[in-house]
Amino acid sequence: MNNCLLVINSGSSSIKFAIYQQDASSSQLVADATGQIQGIGNQPNFKVNNSHGVVLVERTFSVDEAHDHTDAITIIRAWLGEYFAKGTLLAVGHRVVHGGQHYSAPILIDAKVLAELEDLVPLAPLHQPHNLAAIRVLLETIPSLPQVACFDTAFHRVQPEIAQRFALPRHYFDEGVRRYGFHGLSYEYIVSVLPTLDPALQDARIIVAHLGNGASLCAIYKGRSIATTMGLSPLDGLVMGTRCGNIDPGVLLYLMDRHNMDVHALEELLYHESGLLGVSGISNDMRTLLASVDPHAKEAIELFVYRVGREIGSLVAALGGLDALVFTGGIGEHSAVIRAKVCHQAAWLGLELDEPANETSSSRISTLSSKVSAWVVATDENLMIANHTLRQVTIDGDN
Ligand code: ADP
Repeated sequence: MNNCLLVINSGSSSIKFAIYQQDASSSQLVADATGQIQGIGNQPNFKVNNSHGVVLVERTFSVDEAHDHTDAITIIRAWLGEYFAKGTLLAVGHRVVHGGQHYSAPILIDAKVLAELEDLVPLAPLHQPHNLAAIRVLLETIPSLPQVACFDTAFHRVQPEIAQRFALPRHYFDEGVRRYGFHGLSYEYIVSVLPTLDPALQDARIIVAHLGNGASLCAIYKGRSIATTMGLSPLDGLVMGTRCGNIDPGVLLYLMDRHNMDVHALEELLYHESGLLGVSGISNDMRTLLASVDPHAKEAIELFVYRVGREIGSLVAALGGLDALVFTGGIGEHSAVIRAKVCHQAAWLGLELDEPANETSSSRISTLSSKVSAWVVATDENLMIANHTLRQVTIDGDN
């Protein structure tokens, strides 16, 4: 059995994980299995699939057995211990939503780093505490196991300061109230594979559309983030499954004044009741909306596409032009209908869709004569985390 790495994405009531094995001859990481515990503290269910989708284990637990993240990690560790009886767990890589102003790259975690990441909880109160819960449990129970934090915000830290600034009094910026951007691990992965599709993409002006349940766009020049649609929080920018995206701050003042909404009521509205779900009144799931004949479902889809189109225009302005548009995320990778709508809306840029290629989701979906090329690339944030983690452990070992 080879060395292996564990990648963890810890959420409020679930822990998703992926296992990578290091190929003994090439040292490359190879996806081995993915799993999750869902319904922590409620209806805990543990399931692991191998890389071919075959179910390796599926078990339900009582609430007492998987009451919190500590229990969930214990269950994962016990299973790993059996599965990798003869292998060595080299390290664990964690997806951490917020790295704040200072973490612009993955970092090996110790108690000091963990404390600094805890200080960032106010910037991402819905995600950061759950990301850190898994780290804390492992740090306490297996202190010798190297753990690496990989940040969703890190890729954007090279953006020009002006792209990160809100037009608020300066001291708020210094305090950390700035545009951070998210989905950075996805963008970084896309940037890493684009040159294999076309070497010219390496130095090109690109917009990547990460369209999933959460959705954002990133303007990238020569592989670096120039601007992105998400801001201080993952609420800004596009219409998402249940998040509102770009909104006039005056709406929030109105809701506070006229509807007596406090911060928690607003949080619930903007994060969980808005977006595709709010506008359609039916579902946050694009597949359900595309299959529906309800006019509100149609309007939610049209609004989603309209906002993507407008934000593309804004990012083209930031880039000073556009060479390529890349689709990724659940909707971007799988919905030819949405891609076609977005590309038609971007026809003013000289983007000409190759309809048959789009229908089959081939990697290039624009015609050869299109001024702007369009692509579909499946993202792989877990592999990005695994590679970063291996690098950190190797660097550490070399010192
Ligand atoms: P998350 O942001 O939670 O990682 P995903 O990237 O998995 O989300 O994307 C989930 C979204 O992708 C859902 O809205 C789902 O309906 C949509 N999706 C997945 N497959 C398809 C498809 N074939 N056609 C349209 N939408 C799809």
